[in-house]
Amino acid sequence: MPFYTCQCQDCGRVFSVGLNSEKDLDKTQCPSCGSKKLVIVSPELLRTGGG
Ligand SMILES: [Zn+2]
Repeated sequence: MPFYTCQCQDCGRVFSVGLNSEKDLDKTQCPSCGSKKLVIVSPELLRTGGG
């Protein structure tokens, strides 16, 4: 499952989420505020380096 970097349009939080396709973004909620107004910032795995 590829990971996408998304950003919440409501609170501005950026986070990574695993999606089978970009359409699955509709099923994803912001982990911070619960909004579904999300946009994909980058279709690449965001490496945090922290494990
Ligand atoms: Zn949010």
